[in-house]
Amino acid sequence: MERGLMPDALIVDDVLEEFVHGKISSPRAKNIVLPTKRLIAVARKSKIPVIYVSDAHLPSDPEMALWGPHAMKGTKSAEVIAALKPAKNDYLFEKRVYSSFQGTGLELLLHDLKVDTIAIVGLLTEICVRHTAADAFMRGFKVKIPKDCVEALSAKAQIEGLHYLKSMYGAEITTSQKLAKEWLTAPQ
Ligand code: ZN
Repeated sequence: MERGLMPDALIVDDVLEEFVHGKISSPRAKNIVLPTKRLIAVARKSKIPVIYVSDAHLPSDPEMALWGPHAMKGTKSAEVIAALKPAKNDYLFEKRVYSSFQGTGLELLLHDLKVDTIAIVGLLTEICVRHTAADAFMRGFKVKIPKDCVEALSAKAQIEGLHYLKSMYGAEITTSQKLAKEWLTAPQ
């Protein structure tokens, strides 16, 4: 397949109870729910693979020292929020560190799907989205960020986080509306 004709995949990062309603939640997290719900629906309709990658921590994980227990495997806080529940044909991965690529099998799946570009949505812009974008970049994937579908812990962190994604990883900062339009008009 020619470069440029490859489809995108949509990575849905950590849209969990913990980060929307829990103790590491940002008051800004709720802003992304509606646009993300719409974008996921368009992805499914456009045959864009929808891949959820979610924290499912064990007590021995390195992040515990920094953040304390959060999104622990098997608990309510590690569940995807009700508004954004995965559908039958979506892919689901669990992760134990910030990046969606570490120890998850995501890279192999993207190669299997013949995907060269990922759109990342979810939480948080300056932490898990950033580390997922870093690993994508270093593995040769292009990255798109619909900025209304990612959020940070503060307005400042959101602005700086988006700038970092663009300047360090060449991420295309876009909007969910623009991306939805691309997907709906792309040849299948
Ligand atoms: Zn975590």
